[in-house]
Amino acid sequence: MRVISVAVPVPFLDALSYAVPGHVDLPPVGARVRVPVATRTLTGCVVEHAPGGEQTLDLKEIVDVIDLEPFLPANVVELCRWVADYYLAGIGDAIAIAMPPGAKARASSYKTRRVAAITPHGLSVLGSARAKQQAALEVLAGATAGVPASKLRERGITADVLSRLAKNGLVTIRTETHERDPFPQAVLSDVAVDVTRRLTGEQTSAVEQLAALADTAEFRVALLHGVTGSGKTEIYLRLAQQVCGRGRQVLLMVPEIALTPSVAALFRGTFGDRVAIQHSALSDGERHDQWQRIRRGEIDLVVGTRSAVFAPLERLGLIIVDEEHDGSYKQEEAPRYHGRDVAIVRASRESALVILGSATPSMESYHNAQSGKYARATLERRVLDRPLASVRLVNMRDEYAAEGPDAVISRALSAAIEDRLSRREQSLVLLNRRGYSTAVFCRQCGDTFECPNCSISLTVHTAGKGWRARCHYCNYSMIVPKACRKCAAPYLEHAGFGTERVEQHLCDRFPDARIGRIDRDSVRRKGTLAALLTSFAAGEIDVLVGTQMIAKGHDFPRVTLVGVISADVGLGLADFRASERTFQLLTQVAGRAGRGERAGEAIVQTLFPEHYSIQLACRQDYPAFFEREIAYRRGMRYPPLLALINTIVRGRSLDDAMQTASEVVRRLEPATAAGGFTILGPAPAPLARLRGEHRVQFFMKGVRRTAMREALKTVLAGMPEIRRRVTVDVDPLSVL
Ligand code: ADP
Ligand code: ZN
Repeated sequence: MRVISVAVPVPFLDALSYAVPGHVDLPPVGARVRVPVATRTLTGCVVEHAPGGEQTLDLKEIVDVIDLEPFLPANVVELCRWVADYYLAGIGDAIAIAMPPGAKARASSYKTRRVAAITPHGLSVLGSARAKQQAALEVLAGATAGVPASKLRERGITADVLSRLAKNGLVTIRTETHERDPFPQAVLSDVAVDVTRRLTGEQTSAVEQLAALADTAEFRVALLHGVTGSGKTEIYLRLAQQVCGRGRQVLLMVPEIALTPSVAALFRGTFGDRVAIQHSALSDGERHDQWQRIRRGEIDLVVGTRSAVFAPLERLGLIIVDEEHDGSYKQEEAPRYHGRDVAIVRASRESALVILGSATPSMESYHNAQSGKYARATLERRVLDRPLASVRLVNMRDEYAAEGPDAVISRALSAAIEDRLSRREQSLVLLNRRGYSTAVFCRQCGDTFECPNCSISLTVHTAGKGWRARCHYCNYSMIVPKACRKCAAPYLEHAGFGTERVEQHLCDRFPDARIGRIDRDSVRRKGTLAALLTSFAAGEIDVLVGTQMIAKGHDFPRVTLVGVISADVGLGLADFRASERTFQLLTQVAGRAGRGERAGEAIVQTLFPEHYSIQLACRQDYPAFFEREIAYRRGMRYPPLLALINTIVRGRSLDDAMQTASEVVRRLEPATAAGGFTILGPAPAPLARLRGEHRVQFFMKGVRRTAMREALKTVLAGMPEIRRRVTVDVDPLSVL
């Protein structure tokens, strides 16, 4: 009897075994099959041909085979199996990421669309049909080649109306295959690729060094450490050209395409339609079409966000991870994988070169470069000898003493913005905290607004003329009343401030300036972000306020000033990466200034001007920061010197969660000595309650990840009843 292992879309589940009936061709690894799971029939993916023979008698049979050829290539299936194993996730969760949207349906049913066209008979009755049909005929008469049914539906013309028209011979309905191009034309048109551009000396030697590595066609990882504005994109482009020229494919990973559409456009401009794009902001249809093109091998280069690491490429020669330090490469839901780390594993299996690019490498990557595990290329200077922005620190304690405790924008920053406005140059103002204020409280009784579901105080946002308080974790929200709920005193006061308040301050202070804001609230509607970035690039906005979204990778040559309000926002968090994140954010945002012909300046406001991550970011001295930070990590036994696994147990009460977590830890303890790891906790997580559930966490720390993972896996396998209440995070980025 022939047996296959099948990944099914059920959380936490391992692959299930099924028998293949004798009259059915054995489906290859990567093919989709229909299988019975409990009382349902689900679409799964074959992940292995299991050796038959043993205990196969009571195996269920598969119901149907969807693909005779692998739908997912075998290398991608293997990668998913690695991800599920390494991150302690279900194989179905991992396979689901590699699948294009709509893969659960039969392949052919997805890519088609229905198009309606008016017939000559329809044209002849135009004007005499009944109201609804008349409206449809008028639209169709204006486009005799046909209109997609989806477009008609947007105009209120339903499938019902169409089929009645078709029955009467007034329209025809045909099925068409259709591919959508997700590249916005507006972005493409203004990207001129300058092939004649001479590389700088540093760029040339970096390209030579990395090209030599690519040519060996062996697995290597190289860190491309180049200061902001040193021209890393140009290097990616040349290497991609070389690798494609040798018949291999390139994957370019970027943190968020929406924030850097120009990179995608630049590659599209160079490689034409041999480029595909993969990211979650595409519509399902677009993503599906792009995926199919990659699968058919029509693509030389894929640009995408973290999930693109699973792109169905079969001749991969180079993976570039741009801004490799960026936190968005980590998926914060199962499987909790890190796109950069999976990229490295994939490259090692497919003998490809990985280039990790950043001005502020992660501690992990720089550590590996220092130890010689990774090759390294360095760009110490900006292109055309443009200087890095000069950075000035403003101690907000002095500012409060002089201006009162409500000061938000210091005198120095205010004067600098005024100066830029008069010279028609642009400014960026960063505050990595959204909302209007961080809390409201009653001055009389002290009542505050906490989330009823989470142990967090609500963030206040402007809402029309008033305010709405919202939980950033569970989205609970309430209108902020005029008077205190408890004592009815009309003395509600705002504490702390976010981007909305900064924007308001700027509008009050500079009434004639054009001020824009980018944060997750302001760009909620699709297309808003692209529109804001485009109008800033076009010089239609003078001052752009925003969260870390404005710090990432942008190249706006007219920005000569960057202001940072509260550089220390992230330092208060109980997270061992707080200093690293602060250093990265400040260095990156300062790097947005002075990228054009005029020199740039950054003004950094802080309450902790002596903190090393702020000091060294101001000097833009990465090596000094690394030395300082690695000493701290070594002293505290934190990554990258050790591996960490964070396990969170949730429960209806704190007691419940604590008891369960203690039991897991008790069962793990016997393995600590042999596995060479220690356990910290269990203890309530910093976010002790989230969405109504209590959270208790414990950490496993050790040098040997495998030993820790295996021990935890064994213990959890013995406690299946708690699996849904446990979140395991291997190599966590955030430990809150
Ligand atoms: P990074 O990603 O290292 O911050 P970019 O790749 O965005 O830097 O390059 C910064 C700017 O310099 C871009 O506007 C880019 O077009 C330009 N640039 C890159 N290389 C050169 C070069 N050799 N000569 C002139 N300009 C360059
Ligand atoms: Zn909440």
